Amino acid sequence: MKLQTKGKINLLKPKIVILGAGYGGLMTATKLQKALGVNEADIVLVNKNDYHYETTWLHEASAGTLHHDRVRYDIKNVLDRNKVEFVQDTVIEIKSEEKKVLLEKGELAYDYLVIALGGESETFGIKGLKEHAFSIVNVNAARTIREHIEYQFSTYSMDQDESKLTIVVGGAGFTGIEFLGELVERVPKLCQEYDIDQSKVKMYCVEASPTVLPGFDPELVKYAVSFLEGKGVEFIISSAIKECTPEGIIHGKADEEPQEIKAGTVVWAAGVRGNSIIETAGIESMRARVKVEPDLRAPGFDNIFIIGDCALVINEEINRPYPPTAQIAMQQGISVAKNISKLIRNQSDLEKFVPDIKGTVCSLGDHNAIGVVYGKKLVGTPASFMKKVIDNRSLFMIGGISLMLKKGKFNFI
Ligand code: FAD
Ligand code: NAD
Repeated sequence: MKLQTKGKINLLKPKIVILGAGYGGLMTATKLQKALGVNEADIVLVNKNDYHYETTWLHEASAGTLHHDRVRYDIKNVLDRNKVEFVQDTVIEIKSEEKKVLLEKGELAYDYLVIALGGESETFGIKGLKEHAFSIVNVNAARTIREHIEYQFSTYSMDQDESKLTIVVGGAGFTGIEFLGELVERVPKLCQEYDIDQSKVKMYCVEASPTVLPGFDPELVKYAVSFLEGKGVEFIISSAIKECTPEGIIHGKADEEPQEIKAGTVVWAAGVRGNSIIETAGIESMRARVKVEPDLRAPGFDNIFIIGDCALVINEEINRPYPPTAQIAMQQGISVAKNISKLIRNQSDLEKFVPDIKGTVCSLGDHNAIGVVYGKKLVGTPASFMKKVIDNRSLFMIGGISLMLKKGKFNFI
């Protein structure tokens, strides 16, 4: 079955297909709908779900400090439906040579393609992780993690199995630390609800590097570690998770006897890769991430743009890739919308994408955080305030003031 685009089809109009309605894809779509007239192009946005989720808030939904409905909104609410057709479907394969995309329920031909399918959890082939660990990757995963933890606590009284009250977080990167920040808020409430002595709850964070948040400002890292330790988190650093079993994890330092931690919940937050769809698209990639050209096109393809977690952009100053972030994905969406508009108008001076990194803020629960914003270090309430401003700004950039007021965070103190 071929999908039909709605309305009168002008065969001369180029067709832009955007895959993924995350930060990058939705930003591209909303910018293109402003930049292009109805007669200039057909724009189609494809996404698995009819909602967009704020990936950057998923640690909250996973811990249960924020309901999962708060982290998502209806995609159609931010689209101009006269200009963008939304197709709810799952991408199965990109046939780059044939200029078409296979979906679960059909296929789409394109003149210009934007791949913005986001990332997946990277397990580095570690045994048992896929089967026994959770990853904070989407709304369904977040809901499952929240329900699983609650189930462990709620059934503890039946068998007094203390491993049910043990939670291991693999990786002390930003995802691991932000999740722990939420967990230390949630656990006392769960203990109260299920009559559990909180001293029986164990929260471990196992990190392979010699430090928590490798590469981040040491003073801020110290603040975060001492805050989380004060709330009961035990950090095990310089030790890698080597295996995950139905009973817990095996971890160890090089040349040392591996150790076991029996845990009812293991959350793997130790890395991301691009979307595996990339690996069958006939485009060269590394861990499903494509080293894109300066104008964000895939090497060798003048009509395919790749953005967000599927793209790899090198920071020339340090000759290393920029970390995949929502901040960069959104900026790339803006840049791609400009470049596609130029191509459609036969302008050849495409913009080179240069990220404008404004800073990084890592939340530690609802009222605490650490961060560096415009080169200035922040901790505590000011950092937490800034994190909410950033969260609200991203809603504003995609859906304007109405979306920000509907879904934003305004509990500043
Ligand atoms: P996403 O926003 O993940 O969107 C991908 C979209 O594609 C989704 O809608 C998905 O449903 C859809 N999709 C996937 N596969 C298919 C398919 N086969 N068919 C159809 N649709 C599909 N970055 C920051 O800058 N700041 C932060 O504070 C921050 N916090 C984070 C907190 C957490 C817990 C996590 C996990 C990440 C965080 N990040 C943060 C990183 C950031 O979320 C990602 O870099 C960003 O989401 C990437 O955007 P994207 O557009 O590439 O993909
Ligand atoms: P990451 O790759 O940044 O961190 C993963 C951590 O896991 C690293 O510290 C690594 O040393 C560790 N690790 C790897 N293998 C391990 C093993 N076998 N055992 C134990 N530890 C192991 O991944 P992330 O934290 O999920 O972040 C992904 C991306 O999302 C990054 O670009 C990050 O900047 C971004 N992000 C940003 C924020 C924010 O800005 N507040 C929040 C979350 C994520």
